[in-house]
Amino acid sequence: MKIIRKIREMQAEAEKIRINGGKIAVVPTMGFLHEGHMSLVDIAKKHADHVIVTIFVNPTQFAPTEDLDKYPKDFKRDCELCESRKVDAIFNPDCKEMYPGDSSVWVVEERLSKGLCGRTRPTHFRGVTTVVAKLFNATLPHFAIFGEKDYQQAAIIRKMVRDLDFPVKIITGPVVRESDGLAMSSRNKYLSPDEREKALSISKALQEARQKILRGERTAGKIIGGINLRISQNGGRVDYVEIIDSETLEPLKKIDGKAVIAVAAFFGTTRLIDNISV
Ligand code: AMP
Repeated sequence: MKIIRKIREMQAEAEKIRINGGKIAVVPTMGFLHEGHMSLVDIAKKHADHVIVTIFVNPTQFAPTEDLDKYPKDFKRDCELCESRKVDAIFNPDCKEMYPGDSSVWVVEERLSKGLCGRTRPTHFRGVTTVVAKLFNATLPHFAIFGEKDYQQAAIIRKMVRDLDFPVKIITGPVVRESDGLAMSSRNKYLSPDEREKALSISKALQEARQKILRGERTAGKIIGGINLRISQNGGRVDYVEIIDSETLEPLKKIDGKAVIAVAAFFGTTRLIDNISV
């Protein structure tokens, strides 16, 4: 497994693969890898003969008040995990390599990124779209794999690829959960045992909501109310609970087609997100 730290070197490697007729799939991550990430590697393997995992904690998607400095890292363990899943290369640039200091061009999506996480994190998605565009230019992939855990992010990347004609096919993988239902996340490491227990209320509330819908409830407000209550009773501070159209991400009042229930909530200072499709 190669570990590549320079953009030019990554591009040269990708060009070599392409000239030899190889297919490249990239899995962009911020590291501190878990089975959620590795499930995307497994999907990548099915589509391409060369899998590149990018590991870069992207400063431009964090607000000054957020957890950039304490974002968890374990590069050695990440390498071992990737090696064991037969990843071909890790692209691990440093900040100076990605943002040499005089960057002044951004990729901005202006519709899907306004709501949900974009409401309380207004500069987050332009950081994401910009870094993903840069990672695509470095790794020259045929396929890029994203998790449905970050549902809004995947929708925005699809839109970016469509609107800017990136020759990359976006593939998504389902949310991978711990055995008790908590969505896997690098940020779960921040939770105290007590917070970890209480944070389970997010996935439980989403399951309860699904049951209500199966029993015939269609009014979004009632379902949202139930989720809010369950999370706040468990000491969580809800950032948002929304039921949205699965494509446009527009909030729905009535559920009469494919919808997604999306939640963001704080437990202590840790902000967690989760969603289910209904
Ligand atoms: P991150 O390192 O948190 O930026 O995530 C990198 C990629 O892994 C993103 O496409 C995420 O959506 C995906 N991902 C993170 N956690 C999970 C999970 N529990 N299940 C599926 N995909 C995930």
